Amino acid sequence: MIDKLKQRMRDMAETAVVLAKKTEEIFDQLKLSDEQRNVRYDMCKACDRFNSITTQCKVCHCVMSVKTYLPNSSCPLKKWDAVVVVVKE
Ligand code: SF4
Repeated sequence: MIDKLKQRMRDMAETAVVLAKKTEEIFDQLKLSDEQRNVRYDMCKACDRFNSITTQCKVCHCVMSVKTYLPNSSCPLKKWDAVVVVVKE
């Protein structure tokens, strides 16, 4: 019984690693380029609602150093908007 549980735990850990790698691959495919992201992030850094210590927005509370990479994200005050990304297979 214990051996079966240990094996199940190992299987679940392997699955978690595979899922984490896949998630990272998908994020790398979908995220904006550094250049595109920096246009957004520069606007946040100049915004009076930006917390430069945590890099969080004081309106939506998101971590802008990450959120600005996400194509479908947008500024709650409409200072920058979502963009359409075409993924090539
Ligand atoms: S998301 Fe908008 S409101 Fe928030 S810090 Fe960036 S520019 Fe300012």
